[in-house]
Amino acid sequence: MLTGDAAYIKKINRSLIISKIIEYGKISRADLAKITGLNKATISVQAADLLAEELIVETQQEHKNLGRRPIMLSINEQAGFVLGVDLDKNSITYTLANINGFPVQTDSIELQSSDYLVILGLLIKHIKAYRQLCEQARYGLVSVVIGIHGIVNKDEMIYFVPQHQWHNKNLKDDLINELGIDVYIENNANLCSFAEKVYKHHQSENLLSLSLYSGIGLGIMVKGEALKGYHGYAGEIGHMIVVPDGIPCSCGNMGCWEQYASESSLLKRVSKQQNKLDLRYGDIRNLLLEQEPNTCKQMEHYIKFLSIGINNIINLYNPEILVINSELLRIYPNAISEIQAHLTSTVSHYCELLISDLGNKASVMGACALAIKNFLEVTKLSLTIDNR
Ligand SMILES: [Zn+2]
Repeated sequence: MLTGDAAYIKKINRSLIISKIIEYGKISRADLAKITGLNKATISVQAADLLAEELIVETQQEHKNLGRRPIMLSINEQAGFVLGVDLDKNSITYTLANINGFPVQTDSIELQSSDYLVILGLLIKHIKAYRQLCEQARYGLVSVVIGIHGIVNKDEMIYFVPQHQWHNKNLKDDLINELGIDVYIENNANLCSFAEKVYKHHQSENLLSLSLYSGIGLGIMVKGEALKGYHGYAGEIGHMIVVPDGIPCSCGNMGCWEQYASESSLLKRVSKQQNKLDLRYGDIRNLLLEQEPNTCKQMEHYIKFLSIGINNIINLYNPEILVINSELLRIYPNAISEIQAHLTSTVSHYCELLISDLGNKASVMGACALAIKNFLEVTKLSLTIDNR
């Protein structure tokens, strides 16, 4: 039996080997040894353990040429499943993914209530149903991660969810007590930045993900790690004051950035101006295509305010990649160039500014990725949902 340092080293090696098998998809023992710098005996012992645990499988690579065909190792993606959950204002979205990070089922359920106990009851019922779906797998449903559009502290306690007016809820323990399954609670902007890193920008160590929906959240990855602040509340950038004595905000201050640059602020302003109830993205797109003058003006105003905040964020973090997660800007073709036209300061530096491909799936995919990371106990994770 291994004790102390030896057990620790074995665990680190295991984490490294699993990470590389996931990253490469299929890899031979010899290549694993080369890439990790571990010796072949270590790789053999670890691979034997992982095979016995059914976490990996062996396949013989097909070669047209004659000669030795190396045996390849890959993740046994059916060994277990994870559930990512995006708990939003009007809906709960669930994505079930295999342990290779590939989504196998997504469902969205409309929410009729903000009552904590009602939503807790729904989560319990739905998670039990997903667990039943996975019961044939070797490890079944292994982990659940729930994205919260609100403030979550370092101990995964929900401090405040403005949309539901929840204060100090221990959703994690409430679910674990009922389900007896691994459950993690995380802020949705943090999950979005994790999804961007894990699924899209594998090499980026300094990445920011800015989510503009009903509020504005910033997920911060510095040196490949999430930066959360002392209490876990870092990234509440929507409450940066951009207009002294401006529009009152639910946080108690006035002139917060999200009152000017969240998507809901733009939708609200255009709806009011057009004398319509609750316009949606498609309506805005049509108004812009018609070049309706007031909507164009509002959009111009919106981009200006958005750029002011982005300028400040860039100055604060000097990011390699800044991903903007926005359904509204996805349908606005000139978004990036118009924002860049405002970023003229000689001190603002970044490498890449782009609109997220993952869009409104980022939070739930980040939740799946975090669940996999926790289950496999790996420090680095690179997954793909494309090219299948
Ligand atoms: Zn505020």
